[in-house]
Amino acid sequence: MAEPVVVVRELRKAFAGITALNGVDLEIERGRVCALLGPNGAGKTTLVRILTTLLRPDSGSVRVAGWNVLEEPGEVRAAVGLTGQNSMVDGLLTGRENLLLVARLRGAGRREARIVADDLLDRFRLTDAARRPAGGYSGGMRRRLDLAAALVGGPRLVVLDEPTTGLDPESRLDTWDAVADLTARGTTVLLTTQYLEEADRLADRITVVDRGEVVATGTADELKAAAGTSRVVLCVAEDHHVEPATRAAASATGAEPRVDRRARRVEVAVTDGQAAVGRVLANLTAAGVEVLEIGLRRATLDDVFLGLTAGPRRRPG
Ligand code: ATP
Repeated sequence: MAEPVVVVRELRKAFAGITALNGVDLEIERGRVCALLGPNGAGKTTLVRILTTLLRPDSGSVRVAGWNVLEEPGEVRAAVGLTGQNSMVDGLLTGRENLLLVARLRGAGRREARIVADDLLDRFRLTDAARRPAGGYSGGMRRRLDLAAALVGGPRLVVLDEPTTGLDPESRLDTWDAVADLTARGTTVLLTTQYLEEADRLADRITVVDRGEVVATGTADELKAAAGTSRVVLCVAEDHHVEPATRAAASATGAEPRVDRRARRVEVAVTDGQAAVGRVLANLTAAGVEVLEIGLRRATLDDVFLGLTAGPRRRPG
């Protein structure tokens, strides 16, 4: 079988005593979309910078499209298209001029650059805006132009570093559509994101990172299954009922509930949904707790994320 497009082994990187990556392993097969999901400061950008040869690792090995990032950085750069958190688009140039520039930088001749640029403008629905300065584009159009620029030269791997951070909801949907188009064509993609919904929607596989370490990896469904199948959620009427309700939920399920004191809300993971609701309710009644709401809901990727990345957060740098 062909080597995966990305192979990362035991990758470590520290900045002046701060560990950014602490032994990360990652593989992305050809044609797959991998989401690297993690909170602020998890190490996502550091990994992307190493993969794209912008930063040297302290130790470990990183191969992209069969090339070693330390020994063959030029080949790696030629094989990767990157769009970052900050747009690379030049606002003074038109959309078309931006793409022509990137194509020429990537070694295309004039004629070929024009063909590539016009094709990408068409594909990313930018033909009508092609001759306007990109500075006047909406957030979503800018990201589409960024994506188009990352595809110039037909890279083996496209890296999208937090592609929708800072976008309004409409532009985010617009960008998701553009990424979905990319993935439908079998492009291999590494996507970093802090948004569960984004990972759930766009990725085949999700690798959850926290504090420089991989804490889980799998499909969205596998991760959800690992977090328990469902949750009993309840709200109580009085502040002083939160404690007894938490104890009642814990003893009925054997799991540790999650408590939101301000909302007087208690939530606990269960495997036998309906029966568990009955037991929790019986315990609550026996404890004299007045319940405003009680119900069952399916585990979401949020549950996975919170369960895996809980604990005191190191301050992001
Ligand atoms: P975000 O979602 O905020 O972009 P991230 O997951 O991309 O976060 P990184 O930017 O990779 O996280 O940072 C990982 C850790 O390394 C953080 O603690 C950060 O402060 C630290 N770090 C990253 N780059 C540097 C640097 N150039 N100098 C010092 N510390 C750094």
